[in-house]
Amino acid sequence: MRRLHGVVYFLLLCCLTSRAQTTVADIFGRTLNTRGITLVDWDGFMANPLLKFYIYAPTNAALPGSATLTANGARIYFDANSTVSSNGPTKTISLTSTSIGVPIRMSIFPDRDSASEEYTLTIVFTASNSIKQTNTVPIHVIDQDRQRTNAFMTTVNFDKDATGFFTNASRRALVQQAADDWCYFFTNMGTAKVSINAEQTFIWSNNFDGGYYVRNTNAYTGYQLYAYGTTNSTHRSGGEASYAGGVQTSNGVALKIKRSGGFEAEIYGNYNTRGWLFLTNESDWLATGNLGAETNDFYSIAHHEIGHALIFNEAHPGFNTARTNGAFTSAAVTNYFGGIVPIDTSDHLNGSIDPESGQGSFGYEYYGSIPRKRWVMTKLDLLCAQEVGYTLRDVSALAALTWTNTALTPAYVGIDYSNALSATGGIVVYVWDVVSGTLPPGMTLDSFSGALVGTPTSSGTFSFDVRVRDYHENQPGVTQTINFVVSPPPALQLSLFNNGAQPRILVAGTTGQHQTIEGSGNLSNWFTLTTNATGTNLFEFNDPDGWQSPTRFYRALVVP
Ligand SMILES: [Zn+2]
Repeated sequence: MRRLHGVVYFLLLCCLTSRAQTTVADIFGRTLNTRGITLVDWDGFMANPLLKFYIYAPTNAALPGSATLTANGARIYFDANSTVSSNGPTKTISLTSTSIGVPIRMSIFPDRDSASEEYTLTIVFTASNSIKQTNTVPIHVIDQDRQRTNAFMTTVNFDKDATGFFTNASRRALVQQAADDWCYFFTNMGTAKVSINAEQTFIWSNNFDGGYYVRNTNAYTGYQLYAYGTTNSTHRSGGEASYAGGVQTSNGVALKIKRSGGFEAEIYGNYNTRGWLFLTNESDWLATGNLGAETNDFYSIAHHEIGHALIFNEAHPGFNTARTNGAFTSAAVTNYFGGIVPIDTSDHLNGSIDPESGQGSFGYEYYGSIPRKRWVMTKLDLLCAQEVGYTLRDVSALAALTWTNTALTPAYVGIDYSNALSATGGIVVYVWDVVSGTLPPGMTLDSFSGALVGTPTSSGTFSFDVRVRDYHENQPGVTQTINFVVSPPPALQLSLFNNGAQPRILVAGTTGQHQTIEGSGNLSNWFTLTTNATGTNLFEFNDPDGWQSPTRFYRALVVP
C-alpha cells in the first residue's frame, strides 16, 4: 500500500509541475499567451510587415527542447526555415534556455477585403525527456485594406496580341489586376488626357528581334499598357515603357514618367515550357516558387514585367536618372532602407531586401527571409517609384506614427475611470508607457490600448509624459505631455418627493459614483435602505414604508 501511495503522489507531482507554459512575448517584453499575437495587413496588395516575437521554453522544462509552431491559415507564414501549405505554416525551433527567448517572425500574405481575421497559433513544446506541452495563442489580423477605386489608371490594350494567348478572359483579368495593384498606390497627379494618335509605343516581335510602332487608337488618361503574347528561345517575358512615347504632363508641366509601354507574356511558360498557373485566389499564393523546374505563377511575372513598364525602366526619365547614378538615393529611400539602393544592369534592385517585410525587393524576388512564393510589391519598391516620379497615395504602410488623442476627460476621486489615449500610423501594434512624471494614485496606463484606467484616490492636476511606440525595435516613438485633472466629486444632492403612498428619494451625484440611501427615525440610528449599484447619476428610491413610520429621515452617503 505504501508503494501505491508513492506512485499516486509521484503522478500528482508530475501534473502540477507540468503547468508552466511555453510563453510568447513581443519585442517589448509583453507576454501574449492570453491577449494574442497581432499581425497587420497593410492597405493595398503589398508585402506585409514581418513581425518579431519571442518563444520561451516552460520554466521547469528539461532542456534542450524544441517547439513546433503551426497556424491555421493558408496566408500566414513564418520567417525562413519554415514551410507553408494550404493548411497553414509550420516552423520548428530549438530551445536551450528558459530565460532566453528564441525570435521568430510572422506575417500574412495580403488579401483585398477589409475584414480583420482571427487565427490560432499552436505551439507544441517537446522537452528533452519527451514530455510535451501544447499551447494555443490567438492571432489577430488587423486588416487596413481600404475599398477605394484607383486614382491613377492603367488601360490594358490586348489588341496587339497575335498569339491568341489573351483570348482567355481570366488571363486578361490577371494582367489588369497586376497593373491595378501597382497603380493603387499612385495619386492621379492630374495627368493630362492623351488624345487619339498622340502616343507612340513599340510592339515587339517574337524573339525580341524587331517590331513595329503603333499609335493609340483610343484616348486615355493615365497609362496605356499593350499586353500581348510572345515567345523566344529562352522563354522569357518582357516589360518596358515606351522610348518613343511622350512623358506624362500635369498642368502643362512635364513629369519624369512615361505614359505607355508593353508587357510581353511568354506563351509557353517562364524560362521553361511548363505553361502557367493562372491563379486568382489569394490563398493560392503559395502554389509555386517560380523556380525553373516548376510551373510558374502568371500573376507574379505579370506583376514583375508591369513593374518594369510602369517604373523600373530607363525609358522613364526619372528611372534613367537613378540608373545613371547606379542607385536610388532619395531621402525617403535611404531613410527607410538605411542606405542607397543599387540598380543592376537588368533594372533590378539586386541584393536589396525590403526591411519591413523581409521580401526581396523588385527583381530580387528569389531572396529574402520569408517563403519565396508569389511576387508582390514591397514598401521599398513604392519608395523607389516615388523617386522615379510617381506621387504616392496615403496608404497605411507609409503613414508616420502620430498621436490622435492627448485630451483625457477629467476624473473624480473615488469614481471608476477609463479613457484612452490614441495614435495612428506606423506598424499599428503599439506600446504605451509613462516616461516621466507619475500617474495619479490609483490609476494605471494599459500598455496595449493606451487606456488610463482605475479609481483615482486623490485630487489635483497631474502632469506626466506618455510615449507611444509602434512595432519597431529601437525606435524613440512619440512622446506627449498629458495634463490630467482629478477633481473631488461634487456634493450629493438629495430630493424628497411626495409620491402617493411611497416617498420618492432622488440622489444626484456623479456617474460612476455609488451611494447608499439611509433612513432613520431619530437622526442617530441609521439603516441602509438601498445602494446605487450601477453608479447612475440620478439614483431613485421609492420607500414602501416611508409614510407608515411615525417619523423618517433620509440621507445619502458615498460608498467608499
Ligand atoms: Zn526584370
